[in-house]
Amino acid sequence: MAVPQRRTSKTRRDKRRTHFKLEVPGMVKCEQCAELKKAHHVCKNCGSYKGREIVKAQ
Ligand SMILES: [Zn+2]
Repeated sequence: MAVPQRRTSKTRRDKRRTHFKLEVPGMVKCEQCAELKKAHHVCKNCGSYKGREIVKAQ
């Protein structure tokens, strides 16, 4: 059975875990309705993108 040659140090283990974070933080507030929306996506609250371009109002 393959066994690690040495124990992973706390530092190394914790450094590895710095990449374990929640989701993508790419949320910005909509210019139209000030609601939180995903960056580079049409706002799902008011259907706008880049200030104008109303796709659909919900
Ligand atoms: Zn909006």
